[in-house]
Amino acid sequence: MSAQTSRYESDALPTETVDVVVIGGGAAGLNGALILARSRRSVVVVDSGTPRNAPATAMHGFIVLDGTPPAEILKLGRRQVREYGGRIVFGEVATAEPAAPSADGDLRFTITLADGRMLRARRVLVATGLRDVLPEVPGLAGHWGHSVVHCPYCHGWEVRDESIGILATGPASVHHAWLFRQLTDDLVFFTRGTELDADTRARFAARDIRIIETDVKEVVDEQGALAGVRLTDGTFVARRILAVATQMQARTEGVEGLKLPMEDLPGNTGRRFASTLAGATEIPGVWVAGNATDLTAQVGASAAAGALAGSHINALLATADTDAALAAAQKATG
Ligand SMILES: Cc1cc2nc3c(=O)[nH]c(=O)nc-3n(C[C@H](O)[C@H](O)[C@H](O)COP(=O)(O)OP(=O)(O)OC[C@H]3O[C@@H](n4cnc5c(N)ncnc54)[C@H](O)[C@@H]3O)c2cc1C
Repeated sequence: MSAQTSRYESDALPTETVDVVVIGGGAAGLNGALILARSRRSVVVVDSGTPRNAPATAMHGFIVLDGTPPAEILKLGRRQVREYGGRIVFGEVATAEPAAPSADGDLRFTITLADGRMLRARRVLVATGLRDVLPEVPGLAGHWGHSVVHCPYCHGWEVRDESIGILATGPASVHHAWLFRQLTDDLVFFTRGTELDADTRARFAARDIRIIETDVKEVVDEQGALAGVRLTDGTFVARRILAVATQMQARTEGVEGLKLPMEDLPGNTGRRFASTLAGATEIPGVWVAGNATDLTAQVGASAAAGALAGSHINALLATADTDAALAAAQKATG
């Protein structure tokens, strides 16, 4: 999906080396920055303003904030990070690379923005989110995030009792069907070439899920609203909502130079940055959080992952600071 950009006020880039650069200012990046700023770490978030859920009118499924527009949540998050001295720079990271370590052996990274400005940091938190790749069905992308949905927990309640069609993208869509069947009695499964075995067909029949095996040609509009789909044999099937499991690709642009290991999810459903405890990666000094490494994380889980990574970074910086202080003290005393 092409990203929807929201521009906002930007802080100045610091000239000195900062403790942490956070790449990406969504739920994960901002919560990481909040924890770091509150730990008196100098932190700069560089964010290009294209969060994944930008098309959604409201965020759901996360207590307290349920029903709040995504842009409002991020605006408040930026304000809270800034209240503790964190800086937020609107811009796009073009390159991020390890640099020569400091004189006392501490790690260093160089971050270059698309406009050529540069920034140096001791540690990096990558929170770039993911890109949803929709199947190539004419007319589908224009309804993304409104009448074309992917997540029963994000907008399931809002589409309850509607006529829903599952546009299958592979075997995982069968499970998608069970989840959307929980929300409506009027469900059609467009197989789009996905093979269904006898057991699955029996289960669909038992749950009154209609199966259509003729391929989908296009999504049909009526005065801007989704009206249904046209099949390749010309048949029109009326549907108000289409549910589709997207292929989820971690956003890698600008961070390739960090050489973070990546891994594919089973069934060609997505690709993520590999990570371990608290978002640590195989690359010393680099952490990942949110959808960039956990493709199924919603806003709450992404924010929590950012917070955990932030606290882990702070803990390791505290150790590095203590090691450096001890070395300096020992040197001073001969
Ligand atoms: C249509 C839709 C509706 C959704 N609704 C809900 C919902 O109701 N409830 C819910 O819990 N979840 C919902 N989600 C999921 C939610 O969007 C994600 O869980 C959440 O956005 C993940 O947060 P994140 O911080 O990992 O990534 P993002 O929010 O995507 O933020 C990543 C940020 O990184 C920035 N970035 C990327 N690359 C660079 C770069 N090179 N330089 C600088 N900045 C960069 C981007 O501009 C972006 O701002 C929805 C998703 C979609 C697609």
